Amino acid sequence: MYCPNPQCPDLVRHGVRGEYRPGVRQCATCGAGLVPREEIPPTAGTPPATELAEAAVRHLSESGGGPHGTLVNIASFHTPESAEVARLALEAESIEAFVADNHTISVLPWYTIAIGGVRILVSESDAVRARSILSEAGL
Ligand SMILES: [Zn+2]
Repeated sequence: MYCPNPQCPDLVRHGVRGEYRPGVRQCATCGAGLVPREEIPPTAGTPPATELAEAAVRHLSESGGGPHGTLVNIASFHTPESAEVARLALEAESIEAFVADNHTISVLPWYTIAIGGVRILVSESDAVRARSILSEAGL
């Protein structure tokens, strides 16, 4: 059973909904009535973990990206596994790639569509080559 409250301190602080054993009826943190996982509305609130990931990416981009230059999104995948395959394909060609939102989607799979899938980020200078590597690999 899960806490459905989008403002629940568990979700806000940790980015993860409170999960309780069957038989527990109330969220111990916020007191909301618990619901089965499939009854959680798919668009209830924005997962804070995603906001943090976005903020981190924005920070990297705006600050010139530190060692990686500006990061750009070159592809999106429905599962963390397929994104990981793409990342490995890029690393095999010596392109450093980052998988964004994979943890959010592992924990909150029903947000996959809402947050645009699992994204692959690479340095702006690698973006053109990275896109062609992925399309040649059929990814
Ligand atoms: Zn709660």
